[in-house]
Order: sequence, then structure tokens, then C-alpha cells
Amino acid sequence: MKAPAFDYIRPSGLAEVFKLLATHGDDARLLAGGQTLLATLNMRLSEPAVLIDINGIAALSGISVQGGKLRIGALSRHTEIEDSALVAQHAPLLAMAVPHIAHRAIRNLGTFGGSLAYADPAAEWPACAMALEADIIVQGASGERRIAAADFFVDILTTSLQPGEVLVACEIPMHQAGWQYAFDELARRHGDYAIVGLAVAARLDGALLADTRLSFLGVGNTPLRARRTEAVLNGRALDATSIDDAAAMLATELTGEHEPMADLTNSSATKRHMATVLLRRQLAKISA
Ligand SMILES: Cc1cc2nc3c(=O)[nH]c(=O)nc-3n(C[C@H](O)[C@H](O)[C@H](O)COP(=O)(O)OP(=O)(O)OC[C@H]3O[C@@H](n4cnc5c(N)ncnc54)[C@H](O)[C@@H]3O)c2cc1C
Repeated sequence: MKAPAFDYIRPSGLAEVFKLLATHGDDARLLAGGQTLLATLNMRLSEPAVLIDINGIAALSGISVQGGKLRIGALSRHTEIEDSALVAQHAPLLAMAVPHIAHRAIRNLGTFGGSLAYADPAAEWPACAMALEADIIVQGASGERRIAAADFFVDILTTSLQPGEVLVACEIPMHQAGWQYAFDELARRHGDYAIVGLAVAARLDGALLADTRLSFLGVGNTPLRARRTEAVLNGRALDATSIDDAAAMLATELTGEHEPMADLTNSSATKRHMATVLLRRQLAKISA
């Protein structure tokens, strides 16, 4: 199918974007990499009257270290993150996750901000932002807001972005000594959206886990921090017993309100099992 007709505007600054959003309201959509938006237009899942192309706005670009945080501009392409020495040094979890996002051609166009704003529960960046306890920086006509990742992802494809606001950047605490990371996912084929994935960030104090963050994708309506399972691990060494205990807790935690969302080919029980398999594998990597 073809996209419905729309007007196309390419502003050069954020002030102009805010004016356009105020004028067109829900009839307008921001266009970043277009890797999700254009597909939804072609499938007529969305019929905005106006596309506001934000690709010409320099303030949304760039990866830098600012104020002790790694700042990733919203327009940073997935491949820029993949190729960035700053990301490899200061946010190694992102470097581990990025090869799992689609294929290189899509990664060349898709953006970090577009992925966070779209908030697909099976996407890699939202889960990494939760594991790293990143802040999402949004801006509107009345100023800037800084939102903790845990408060940003509200529901399936829903964030706490308000009408008229643009996601401008994400700020990530930089890697410190003692932290270890692991990322993996189970997908039907490499490059497909994950069925279930897991981003791990863990601080070790000597041999003991001091701060464990387990952020699952593809399990809930938003990325899911398995906080009860994290609590089982904190204060303990990673060994066969603590890994068994964590896997048992995760199987319990992923019930009730955290029952995994079934999809067309995977029941919630299958996804729960996949989550425990990923947990065991990732913890084994951390402990290795
Ligand atoms: C075949 C295929 C496979 C894919 N596989 C994966 C995968 O495995 N994992 C994965 O994570 N993604 C996957 N994607 C999606 C891809 O990562 C997209 O790049 C991403 O979801 C959206 O980024 P975008 O820059 O293309 O956003 P766009 O498509 O331009 O926009 C998406 C939405 O976000 C809004 N938006 C964009 N930027 C901003 C902003 N700065 N502020 C506020 N709102 C904004 C838009 O208005 C729109 O509603 C896949 C896409 C395709 C086509």
C-alpha cells in the first residue's frame, strides 16, 4: 500500500518545530529515521496530515561527554552508536546491544531518539536505558524536562512525552570500575525483533553483586526491570546456587501483573522460560 497524502516540512530549528506542533497538534508527526513511521504510513496505520522532518536540526545530533554523562543526541543513528569510540568506552552495554537491532541498512537510518520515543517493548534501546538508569531529555515550547527512563516508558508504544514536546537527547551515567554488562536476545532470525531479550548491568563489590539491574525486552508492555530477582542476587556471589535461586525467582516474578505478553507464536509460558534461559546465560557471562 502507499502512504496517504501528507504535507512535508523540514524546519531548521527547534523553535520552529514547537510552533508547527502547536499549530498542527495531533495532525502532525515528527519524522526522524522514518524506519518505523514510514512503514506505519504505508500500512495506513497512521494518517497524519503533516510530517515535520527533524533531520536538519543540528541541536539533536551528536554523541558527547557532558557534565560527567554520555549524551546521545536524539538523531544519532544506530550505526553512529555502533561505530562510536565514546559509546564503546563509556556505555559498553549499548555497543553490545546495537548489532541486535534489525540490519545494517535500517541501522544506518533509524535513530536512538526515534526508538526511545516509539517505545516498542521489544526494542533494544528502551531496555538498555532502563538498565543504565539513563535520563531522557525532552524539550517543548516552555522548556526542558529530564525524565528518568523508569518514568518515561508508560505503556505499550506510550511514553510520558507530552503533546508539543520533542525528545532531544538521552544522558547515560558513564561506565565506572566494578561494573559489568551483558546483552542477548532470542529472536527467530538475526535482525528480527526479539521475542525476549535481556540487558544486564551489574556492579560487583569484590566477588559480591552490589547493584544488579535486569532489564527485559519483549516481556511486558514496557521494558521490565525484574526487581525481585535483582534483590535475590544483590549481596551474593554469582555461583550455581545464586543463579538457580535467581532463575526460580524470575519464574515467579514473571506471573500475575508481570505475566509475559504472548505473541502469535509464543505463549506467555514459553516467554517466561526464554527469560529464565537468558538470565542464566547472561549471569554466567558476568561471573566468567
Ligand atoms: C525491518 C525492520 C526491522 C526492525 N527491527 C528492529 C529491531 O530489531 N529492534 C529495534 O529496536 N528496532 C527495530 N526496527 C525499528 C528501527 O530501530 C527504528 O529505527 C526505530 O524504531 C525508530 O527510529 P526512527 O528514527 O526510524 O523513527 P521514525 O520512524 O522516524 O519515528 C518513529 C516514531 O517516533 C517519533 N519520533 C521520532 N523521533 C522523535 C523525537 N526526537 N522526539 C519525539 N518523537 C520522535 C515519530 O514521530 C514516530 O511516531 C526495525 C525496523 C524495520 C523497518
